[in-house]
Amino acid sequence: STDDGTVPALLARSAAVHPDRTALRLGAETLTYGALDDLAHRAAALLRARGVGPGDRVALMLPNSTLFAVLYYGVLRAGAIVVPLNPLLRAGEVRHCLADAGAALLLSWHGDGEEAAEGARLAGTPHLAVEPAAFTALLAGHARVAPVSRAPEDTAVVLYTSGTTGAPKGAELTHRNIRRNVGEGVRVLGLGPSDTVFGGLPLFHSFGQVMGLNCAVSVGACLTLMARFDPAGALALVARDRVTVFLGVPTMYGLLLRHPDRAVHDVSSLRVCLCGGSPLPVAVLTGFESDFGCAVLEGYGLSESSPLACVNRIDRPRSPGTIGIPIEGVEMRVVDRDGKEVPDGEVGELVIRGHNVMKGYWRRPEATAEAVRDGWLHTGDLGTRDASGDFRVVDRLKDVVIRGGFNVYPREVEEVLHLHPCVAEAAVLGVPHPVHGQEVAAAVVLRPGGRVSPAELRAHVRERLAPYKYPRRIWLADALPKGPTGKVLKRAIVPPEGA
Ligand code: ATP
Repeated sequence: STDDGTVPALLARSAAVHPDRTALRLGAETLTYGALDDLAHRAAALLRARGVGPGDRVALMLPNSTLFAVLYYGVLRAGAIVVPLNPLLRAGEVRHCLADAGAALLLSWHGDGEEAAEGARLAGTPHLAVEPAAFTALLAGHARVAPVSRAPEDTAVVLYTSGTTGAPKGAELTHRNIRRNVGEGVRVLGLGPSDTVFGGLPLFHSFGQVMGLNCAVSVGACLTLMARFDPAGALALVARDRVTVFLGVPTMYGLLLRHPDRAVHDVSSLRVCLCGGSPLPVAVLTGFESDFGCAVLEGYGLSESSPLACVNRIDRPRSPGTIGIPIEGVEMRVVDRDGKEVPDGEVGELVIRGHNVMKGYWRRPEATAEAVRDGWLHTGDLGTRDASGDFRVVDRLKDVVIRGGFNVYPREVEEVLHLHPCVAEAAVLGVPHPVHGQEVAAAVVLRPGGRVSPAELRAHVRERLAPYKYPRRIWLADALPKGPTGKVLKRAIVPPEGA
């Protein structure tokens, strides 16, 4: 088959070259490239029989599963656009995304049907709840049809960003956006058909979908899925499937590091790890690399940048705390409020230009014009560039704490908290203060067996940072609220009384 530059062409190619290799694994279930390809063709036929046509939006609300991949490539082969939704969304949130995308159909998982069904009803969107066994039988009744051809500039997916501010917007990524990002991801990770990639990031999110699913499929590697990440399960999976490439967000690395089960599992198959999504504390990076004996490449990106924009490399000196250099074909700059580049070492907003910048926000020309100016995607993240050319993320613009006129970057304080051996997770945030405007506060989760008091932690930070930066309020929590990928949701953290 010829490569038309689309996302499903990646699957067609691997199915032609490696039909018998395992594409996906979940628990005891496996799917070969030949079977995935065949099922995706049948799914496309089923969708077309239901009236789905080129450019239609089809929402997928499924947990990580082989069926997710079948339907993802099936929707694309029907010429339609995939709108992946977090299966944990509530009816009102489902309604918003379906209505905003003008979805022609919602495909959801049978078990979690209620919120999906209610959301579809509210939005007036046709809905099909799929149950894996019944669905495979249904697909068997649909003969393959020729895929609808699409151009590389056509939209492939609309990704609803979790919406820290206002209602979620759909980031529109084209086939080319994704194909170019896959090419760079494969190169950075040195991915090949004998790799087994860890699939514990959610497939509805850009990181798991592009760097996990599509990168693995593009080379004929195996993606071993986890329906829901937990550190003990992840360690067991790495050992069982001899995982070679691990993808995760910093909280995952933090939970795996010094986990009690680490000693009972053989993780020597790991070759390289990619970390992104939020700042990776240096103590976690160095601890993980020495304990797991494997390089951790920190990268940076957003859903709006397909997602990879900047990343460390195996074959370049890496200094912990940096996000490396931009991927090929992509430029990154640090700019001031007027969009002027600032000197190396100075803090400004990170902006990105190149093949990875989204087409725009779905049907939101104003929001798009605000985010993408002269081709430069404004990320809302503060960063710096070192003299070596490596970039660093200082913090999110909106997370900066302003205490009595002084800027405090929560990340800097979190780095120091992570230096304490008892700390597993730390989130630093601003809380309202009558005199200073904002006060620095910290929620800390201890490692199993870790014993330290808030006062001791406060002293630990106070010894290492300027007086205005250390958290006056600090408390221990059992867990931190997390978003769909496992990123800490600071806006959902409420300081307890008296802390
Ligand atoms: P929102 O809630 O605003 O939609 P999100 O976290 O859901 O945000 P994503 O596209 O998933 O949106 O994440 C992109 C953001 O993750 C970046 O803007 C940046 O703040 C953060 N990020 C990604 N990689 C890194 C990194 N290596 N270091 C620090 N922050 C990072």
